[in-house]
Amino acid sequence: MKINSLSKEEALRALVSSENGLPEAEAAKRLSESGFNEIREVRRTSLAIRFFRQFTHFLALLLWVGAGLAFLSDYLHPGEDMATLGFAIIGVIMINAVFTFIQEYRAEKALEALKKLLPFYVQIVREGKERKVPSREVVPGDIILLSEGDRIPADARLIEGAMLKVNNASLTGESEASLRNSLPVQGELLDSPNIVFAGTTVTSGSGKALVFATGMGTEFGRIAHLTSTVQPDLSPLQKEIVKATRLVATIAALVGIFFFALGFAIGRDFWNNFIFAIGITVALIPEGMLPTVTLSLAMASQRMAKRKALIKNLSSAETLGCVSVICTDKTGTLTQNRMTAEKIWKDGSILDAKDFRAQADDPLMQTALFCNNARFADNEYLGDPTETALLRLGRESLGDLSAQRIFEIPFDSDRKRMTTVHRVGNAEYVFSKGAMESILPLCSRFLTNGVEQKMEEASRESALDAYSSLMDKGLRVLAFAYKKNLSDSLPADPFSLEKDFVFAGLIGLEDPPRPEVPEAIRKCHEAGIKVIVITGDGSRTAVAIAREIGLVKGDPIVIEGPEFLKMDDRELRKKLAAREILFARMAPKHKMRVVSILQEEGQWVAVTGDGVNDAPALKKADIGIAMGISGTDVAKEASDMILLDDNFATIVNAVEEGRTVYDNIRKFITYIFASNIPEAVPFLAYILLRIPLPLTIMQILAVDLGTDMLPALALGTEKPTPAVMKQPPRSRNERLLNFSVLSRAYLFLGPIEAAACMFGFFYVLYGGGWTWGTLLPLNNVLYLQATTACLTAIIIVQIGNVFACRSANESVLSLGFFSNRFIFIGIAFELCLQLFIVYSPFGNRIFATHPLPPATWFILLPFALLLFFGEETRKHLVLSR
Ligand code: ATP
Repeated sequence: MKINSLSKEEALRALVSSENGLPEAEAAKRLSESGFNEIREVRRTSLAIRFFRQFTHFLALLLWVGAGLAFLSDYLHPGEDMATLGFAIIGVIMINAVFTFIQEYRAEKALEALKKLLPFYVQIVREGKERKVPSREVVPGDIILLSEGDRIPADARLIEGAMLKVNNASLTGESEASLRNSLPVQGELLDSPNIVFAGTTVTSGSGKALVFATGMGTEFGRIAHLTSTVQPDLSPLQKEIVKATRLVATIAALVGIFFFALGFAIGRDFWNNFIFAIGITVALIPEGMLPTVTLSLAMASQRMAKRKALIKNLSSAETLGCVSVICTDKTGTLTQNRMTAEKIWKDGSILDAKDFRAQADDPLMQTALFCNNARFADNEYLGDPTETALLRLGRESLGDLSAQRIFEIPFDSDRKRMTTVHRVGNAEYVFSKGAMESILPLCSRFLTNGVEQKMEEASRESALDAYSSLMDKGLRVLAFAYKKNLSDSLPADPFSLEKDFVFAGLIGLEDPPRPEVPEAIRKCHEAGIKVIVITGDGSRTAVAIAREIGLVKGDPIVIEGPEFLKMDDRELRKKLAAREILFARMAPKHKMRVVSILQEEGQWVAVTGDGVNDAPALKKADIGIAMGISGTDVAKEASDMILLDDNFATIVNAVEEGRTVYDNIRKFITYIFASNIPEAVPFLAYILLRIPLPLTIMQILAVDLGTDMLPALALGTEKPTPAVMKQPPRSRNERLLNFSVLSRAYLFLGPIEAAACMFGFFYVLYGGGWTWGTLLPLNNVLYLQATTACLTAIIIVQIGNVFACRSANESVLSLGFFSNRFIFIGIAFELCLQLFIVYSPFGNRIFATHPLPPATWFILLPFALLLFFGEETRKHLVLSR
């Protein structure tokens, strides 16, 4: 018998469970038998294969060709030691493969660790008590409670359902939500309305279900291996780096060919020439750029997570830096979502909620108390903050009253009200609470001093006046209405109950702004980021709060939901151009249109959301941001980033990190590119000036794959500076390698470095009595020392350069000279490696170097200072322009 065809009792018996759920000990036993309720990821590719791939990508293939040519030339023309270069290139491929693999692996682990920060929780019943457990601990036989926006954790048979609708799109592709019920049926499980499946979501209503399959035993588990083979896309920045690397590699190859042709033209030896062409090509290829960028992005996402912003993929880390508009909710994001009842409007006057006491039959307080899903248990109020505030008020003013709930039409953000039917004593009542605009039109009577009267225009107006004045205090104002239910049974259409109400009064709830928000708003303004509040609350409340946090200073444009619906796109576009604009009484589903129009205007839009209906806007936005605490699973799944603390200020911190990571990537690229010039100029001089070769290929590789490595990584860890949030957002079209980056590296920093290395070379040669035109054998001590000085000069100026690159425009002194300790670790590593290369016999043999007198190092030092102070002066001139 299939579980869908069993009655509720039979199903419970079949799984040896009960409506009270499993005993804890039994659940623990089942967990050890069935394993965790999780989809095991089918390892996409084994580590060995992924490591092997490092030897077969475009750059590696180019390097293999280089090595092959070196060995070929050694074979055809032995005696020139060209095989050494061949081995060196293979060494490059190896070092690069290991380095890339480690970086990619670390980046992947960093992202995996982030995923673990956000386990999904499920509300279950065990031993008759409701509690929350991580979804991985659910076992067959568990009773789970489902509500709107939940992701269903396991395959389960419904045993209760109140207008429960689920969306099975992830399983069947059917995107229309379908109504579920708990009645037994025959047929396939997939078609049964009494079955809910793991991985699908509750779009509305609530229910109770009995779990019968978990983990890989679920339908979702069975198809999971199909989906887990999909490789994540590269982020735009990673794609740009791939393109840039290929471009630079092609240029490097062209430079190699150029040198070869040049040497050939001026009559250099063919084989020597050939080997140099290969060498220079290899030296100029930016091997480690992509993995370093990937790792930088992954590290940035870890830093964001530490600051409570969890991003789901690396693209978001960089997109955050471009955000130009943030559309944010108010409640819980700008405010604390800690509501307290402040004011009550009843019988024509506004009263303080603190000292309010009421009779047990007071309809306003009864509505607040009964039309409410919050609970008071173990001395604690549990549930939605709006409702807990009302429950607290109701309990404090009426004491503990109970009534039997017969029916509920749950609150939803579109209708902006909630209605219940209760039996109080011998009578049945319909209670409704919600936004004024949603309640008042349903009322035909008005309660004054305990008497129900016909709703006159004057009473309507006095209620509206009170409503406005409470909202102007920044309070969230709810209207309350009730009526005696005269019919014996519920009507077929329960919504038809919502009419002919008696208006009972208003309650104003205070929800103070989060203390960090005003500073975050100020930062946004400085950073050229526009903040637009899109709230379900009333406009006056929204404006009052916006004013309090410094978001609006003048007279903002306020658009309310109904007006928004009437507006055409052109009009809306015009309004959206205003400096201060906010949307009130909006339903979440309308956010999407605002996002689309902003995007059409070329903005990068971040949008916050927490409910099921926010999902389309979260998906459409460049950065969809879900609330980690109050958000539904559906919103979290649709988003790119999750705020672990629901706080607006966290978005701004994430934007700051996003901007910083992009800047940092530019910093290390500038640093690496600058050293290409002193690597290329010696070759040019060798060929054009007919001098001994000042820098060997192995020495270039020592810089590119040795000494440069850690300082470059250290630049990737620079912290955000205040200046980062003082610039306008990056434009969509801006390229990473723009003119200013390339010209600074190639036309300013690089030439100073080239001057240093050529100076070092000639200083040693002339100091040793060399005269122009004299040829030196490759093992001549003077020659070896001269190339060593050339290499040492690069190392020394790169120290000045790493400080210069810490910022493109700001003085290092303003950043704090010692503020990045990784820079110093990087420099220490660089110097140790260089000392090893210069002073150890092994280093001398591999890199064809010879120990230098210490004085030579000091002679080269001024070039580092020249570069550093040259940059400081340039920055000063740029800033004072
Ligand atoms: P924001 O969009 O700024 O975060 P919100 O999401 O809290 O605000 P909604 O939850 O859509 O906004 O609430 C809109 C309106 O619905 C509120 O102003 C209030 O009048 C009413 N409302 C909110 N919660 C309830 C509830 N539990 N029962 C009845 N009405 C409610």
